[in-house]
Amino acid sequence: MRGSFITYMTIDIEGFRKHIEENYSEFGVNKVQEILRLVFEISKRERIPYEDIFDAAPENGKEGSHRFMHLKQYLLQRRFPSFSKEERRKHGLFKDLSIEPEYRASIKKSERIIPKRFFIEEAVSKTALVDRLRKKFKTAEFASISTYKDHVKNRVYSLKDFNNRLDEFYIVQEKYDFFIECPCSNNSVPCGYNTMNLGIGCGFDCAYCFLQGYINSPGILIQANIEDYFACFKRTGKDIRVGTGQFTDSLVFDHITEYSPLLVEFFRGYPKSIFEFKTKSDNVDLLFTVKPSENIMVSWTLNPQIIIDNVEFGTNSLEERLQAAARCVDYGYKVGFHFDPIIVYDKWKDDYECVVNRLFDLIDDKRIGWISLGALRMTAKLKQVIENRFPQTNILDGEFLIGYDEKLRYSQRQRDIIYSTMKSFIRAKSKSVHLYLCMEDQGLCSACDINTGDMQKV
Ligand code: SF4
Repeated sequence: MRGSFITYMTIDIEGFRKHIEENYSEFGVNKVQEILRLVFEISKRERIPYEDIFDAAPENGKEGSHRFMHLKQYLLQRRFPSFSKEERRKHGLFKDLSIEPEYRASIKKSERIIPKRFFIEEAVSKTALVDRLRKKFKTAEFASISTYKDHVKNRVYSLKDFNNRLDEFYIVQEKYDFFIECPCSNNSVPCGYNTMNLGIGCGFDCAYCFLQGYINSPGILIQANIEDYFACFKRTGKDIRVGTGQFTDSLVFDHITEYSPLLVEFFRGYPKSIFEFKTKSDNVDLLFTVKPSENIMVSWTLNPQIIIDNVEFGTNSLEERLQAAARCVDYGYKVGFHFDPIIVYDKWKDDYECVVNRLFDLIDDKRIGWISLGALRMTAKLKQVIENRFPQTNILDGEFLIGYDEKLRYSQRQRDIIYSTMKSFIRAKSKSVHLYLCMEDQGLCSACDINTGDMQKV
């Protein structure tokens, strides 16, 4: 990725399309789609008008598929210069390019979220959570619904609903999916993480977040029957590594649910299991209302401030996250850190090194349970969602092609450099802190000498 994160270009997609259709009239729909996407991405990445790209394309004077192949090879090489010819051949299908201005996300400020409207399922209307919400949010609207499923069954979901999700909080009963093993990616080394499914939807708006391509709910879902989760855990009787940070940020709504003290108190009784709060917030006050426990970890996702400012909208700053972590350590909790996703741009090495150094300036490595590393990756569908919700972002300008798990990924070489570099920064500060890679295959774990498989024994 070139330049700073603060770039914005309005690109005339329909102008491109017309240009291709007029000048390459023999191309069918799929060929137009492929060329359109490649030219669009080059134009955005290099910040140049599309005419310049066509002008620079080698003239071959031939008609038909030969002409298409020549043009495509040129564009592929220009769009993905660091991939080999062989790698570029496995690029997969280039998805249609369609950017709807109405899907654009409105950029949120970092502040505590105050719900305006709750929909309460009948089955949970008498729970302690609903009782707390009624007392705490006196000016909010409360409406009773039979079930969430029934309430939304006739609604047609679009990305506009995702953008407005904080307008509606659904307080629901979970019946089945109390704990879910993290599905990981195909052929990745699993880290043994389990999700306690206590919230679906997040109050933050990270441009890369997988939830925006995964969720089709018009609001935030919060499960009220936390006692049923605890009962399910007791019944299962297994020691696991578990956390609430898969389908939401673990603490972004903690001032609303007040779940964190309950979780600490419950998991303290299972010292062979590890419970992890994973967050980008500094919403930690309620953790200090209960006694800490060695098997409770509070962990933060970290990125350089330039990425937080331009990609992780609504989240707390790097310094606020680290100060919150330092408070948790002082109080007696263990902490963890996730450099995930790591995003490559001009000064990424310098900036990530500063983050690592600041982290170890503030936090004693003996209180760090683990640090994970993961490079930016996404499905092709998520890429389309990002283009629509964050058309100004340049995180997509990096070089991503289909990887071993069918996700768009930086090349293997690039990821090797990312992890080896990050590891060297971290090892310069701590020889012993446990490192693992998130969603990477065994080959890369071995190449970087990072033992992700060990996490399954934690
Ligand atoms: S904090 Fe996590 S769950 Fe929330 S928007 Fe960011 S990536 Fe998604």
